[in-house]
Amino acid sequence: MDHRSADSDHILSVIVPVYNEESVISELHKRLAKVLDGLSMTSEIIYINDGSTDTTLEILNGFREQDERVCILDLSRNFGKELAMTAGLDHACGDAVVVIDADLQDPPELIPDMLNEWQRGYDVVYMQRRSRQGETWLKRFTAYGFYKVMGKLGTVPIPENVGDFRLLDRRAVLALRRLREENRFMKGLFAWVGYSQKALLYDRDERFAGETKWNYLRLWTLSLEGITSFSTAPLKMASLMGLLTATGAFFFGVWIVLKTLLWGDPVQGYPTMMVVILFLGGVQLISIGILGEYLGRMFMETKRRPLYLLKGQALAKTTCSLHQQQENHNGSADA
Ligand code: UDP
Ligand code: MG
Repeated sequence: MDHRSADSDHILSVIVPVYNEESVISELHKRLAKVLDGLSMTSEIIYINDGSTDTTLEILNGFREQDERVCILDLSRNFGKELAMTAGLDHACGDAVVVIDADLQDPPELIPDMLNEWQRGYDVVYMQRRSRQGETWLKRFTAYGFYKVMGKLGTVPIPENVGDFRLLDRRAVLALRRLREENRFMKGLFAWVGYSQKALLYDRDERFAGETKWNYLRLWTLSLEGITSFSTAPLKMASLMGLLTATGAFFFGVWIVLKTLLWGDPVQGYPTMMVVILFLGGVQLISIGILGEYLGRMFMETKRRPLYLLKGQALAKTTCSLHQQQENHNGSADA
């Protein structure tokens, strides 16, 4: 009756986006499978191959032959983690769904704790990093700055030091599926759906092997995504900046006219002129840039392209029939 019991009638889906993770994926699967073996729930593991160029897909196929809980979604190219997760959420049939990184920075052993909180009635259980040890000061500083700015600008508060590692109840997953925007800032979307949320503290491990796929340029893009998809404050800031400079320019103009009337006008003032021109030019370019960020996003949004494309999909044997029912129910998973 209660959809939150942890018995074999209920399903736990674990979503793992993977991109070139041949060096860690076997270790992850071993640890994850061990955790799931210890649960009484039926489970499925959905690996989303995000256009890996190494042997990741072959390794995943190997898992599938040995483990009937494994499901593979093979994206047609690299779409990025946010979209890989979206593909996973679209296909998960669990009563509870866990999103986890492939690189073992998120310990799978914490899943039972998350399930406990879920059974106590929380719809979203997110894992909050106790510390950011092992990261460079620059990364920590930029992350801190980003959360501060987001907190000030955004309409929904986004919890700090929280990654994508979390458990979602089915209804939160269904809500997320309805958000089909192209510019996906998943942390914001997770917060946007609301429902009862619970934070659990954990120590984030170092990457087990391989390299992080995030460089500063991608982080910058992600931050812009986060800010522009949840707030129009930069636009207001641009107008405010315009208003302030215009007011300043007005008084400066009055001062110049008076000065000329009182003391005449020997040709002078090249430095002032340059400063004013450059300053105004700068303000204008910044404002146009801000406008452009929003306009560009609107442009992408109006195309209404599918968010991702699948090259192939292999369902889990344990949960196959449920998947099929679901497909019939909403054939629009990737529409
Ligand atoms: N990932 C992905 N597509 C990408 C980049 C990353 O699916 O384009 C996956 C990656 O395989 C891993 C997770 O997203 O499972 C987190 O990536 P990473 O460890 O590089 O990020 P970080 O932990 O440094 O934030
Ligand atoms: Mg990582």
